[in-house]
Amino acid sequence: MIRIPILRRLFIFIGLGLVLSCSKDYQQDRKMNRYLDSIRSDRAALQAFFRTFPKGGDLHHHFDGAVYAETYLDIAIRQNFFVDLNSLNVQQSPAPGFVSLKDYSVSPGWPVLREKLMQRWSVRNFQPGFLTPEAHFFNAFMGFIPIMMSDPKSGMMDIRNRAINEGVLYLESIFLPLPSFSIPLPPDSFNTQLIAAGQNKDTVITRQLLDIYFKELMSGSLPALADGHNRAVDSLHQGIDSEEFVLRYQNYIVRVFQPVSVFRDMVFGFYSAEKSPLIVGVNIVAPEDDPVTIRDYWLQMQMYKFCKEKFPSVRFAVHAGELTTGLVKPEELGWHVRAAVEVAGASRIGHGTDVSWDAGRAELFEKMKANDIPVEINLSSNEFLLRVSHDQHPVVAFHQAGVPIVLSTDDPGVLRNSLTDEFVLLAERYPELSYSDIKQISFNAIKYSHIEEAEIKEKLRRLLEARFKEFEKMW
Ligand SMILES: [Zn+2]
Repeated sequence: MIRIPILRRLFIFIGLGLVLSCSKDYQQDRKMNRYLDSIRSDRAALQAFFRTFPKGGDLHHHFDGAVYAETYLDIAIRQNFFVDLNSLNVQQSPAPGFVSLKDYSVSPGWPVLREKLMQRWSVRNFQPGFLTPEAHFFNAFMGFIPIMMSDPKSGMMDIRNRAINEGVLYLESIFLPLPSFSIPLPPDSFNTQLIAAGQNKDTVITRQLLDIYFKELMSGSLPALADGHNRAVDSLHQGIDSEEFVLRYQNYIVRVFQPVSVFRDMVFGFYSAEKSPLIVGVNIVAPEDDPVTIRDYWLQMQMYKFCKEKFPSVRFAVHAGELTTGLVKPEELGWHVRAAVEVAGASRIGHGTDVSWDAGRAELFEKMKANDIPVEINLSSNEFLLRVSHDQHPVVAFHQAGVPIVLSTDDPGVLRNSLTDEFVLLAERYPELSYSDIKQISFNAIKYSHIEEAEIKEKLRRLLEARFKEFEKMW
C-alpha cells in the first residue's frame, strides 16, 4: 500500500474540495445564464425574475425625485398645503386663489385634481407638446420640492421601505439642498472675472480667484453652517439603517447657478462631506445642456479639482455626458466625461451617454478601467429625457471595454420606475450582458459605493452573497 504523508493527504483533500466547489459554482452559473437567456424576450418572466433578484444598491438616486407623487400628496394633505387650481403650484400658507388640499381631498373634484397633480409631479401619462420631456421632467421638481422640504423624514421612510421591499440593500441618495444661501457672495465683478477665466480656459487666473474666495469662505460662516447641516442630516438619519438596509447621502450643487454660487456650494458640500461619515460625496445636478452649464462646465471641473486638493478624503460622483446629438451643438458633445475623469478626478461618472462623441473613446475607456472608475447607467432616465435607448445607448460599449458598470434609477418617483425595472430593461435589451455580468453589476453597487465604514461595506457584501445563494436555488 502506498503511504501518503498526512500533510499531502490534507492538501489533496483541500484541492479536491476546491475543484468540486468551483465546478459546482460553474454549473450554477451556467444554469442561471441559460435560464436568463431563455426569458430575454418575455417581459413578464423577466419582471418575475428581477423582482426577487438581489440588488446591491442604487448609487445614482436623487432623493427628491425618488419619492412617488402619491407620497407627496399624503404629506401635502397632512401638512395642510394649499394649491392653486390653475398653476397647480403648492404652498404651505393660504393665499388668494389657493384652496386647502385637505378640504379639496374630500370634495367631488378630488379625483381630477389628484390626477393633475400626479401628472405634474411625474412622467405619468406625459404627452409631448410644447414642453419637451426634459422641460416637463425638471418642472416636476419645482412642483413638489416645498412638500419634500416640509417633511423629509416621510420621504426617507418611503424610499427606505421600497428599497427593502425590492431587495435593495443600499442607497446613496443625492439628498437635500444645502443651506448655504446666507453666506455672502463676492461682488458681481468677481463673478465676471471667474466667468472670463473659465471662457479663456485660464487655469492660473481661475486658481487664483478660487483661492481668494476659498479663504474668505473658510474664515466666515461656512464651517458653522456646514456643521449645522451635518447635525440635521444626522438627526434625520436616526432609525433608518438596519440589518438589511443602509442609506448614505451625497451633498449636491446646482450647476446652472452663477460660478460664485456653484463654488460656494461646492466648498460647503466638500467641507460637510469631509466631516460626516453619513455624507459620502458631492454631486452636481440640473440640466447639462443649460446655457450656463455649457458656458461653465470647464470652470466647474476646475472647481472640483480645487476642492479635491483641499479635501482629499472626499470621493465624489459627477453627472457628466448626459447629452446627445441634437440637444446641444456638436462641439459640446464628447468631452464632458473626459473632463470629469481627467480634471475633476471623479470617482464615478453619472450617465456618460455622449461618450461615443469623444474622439479618443477607446483610450478614455482604458483610463476609466485602469483607474477603476465606474459609469452609473440610467436606462429609463436616458430614454425619457434624451431619447437615448437600445443600440443608441453606450452601455454595451462601456461593458465590452471593461469599464465597471453600476445600474441605477436616477429619479424613480418622477420617472415612475424602480431598480427592478432597470434590470429588466438591461437584460431584455442587451443580451451581450450575461447573467454573470448582471450579477456582477449588482455587486458593483456595494464595491463602488462610497460607504466609509469598511465593516458595513463587508457586511452588505456578505448579505448580498447569501441572498444570491438563496435566489439561485429558485430557478
Ligand atoms: Zn441624476
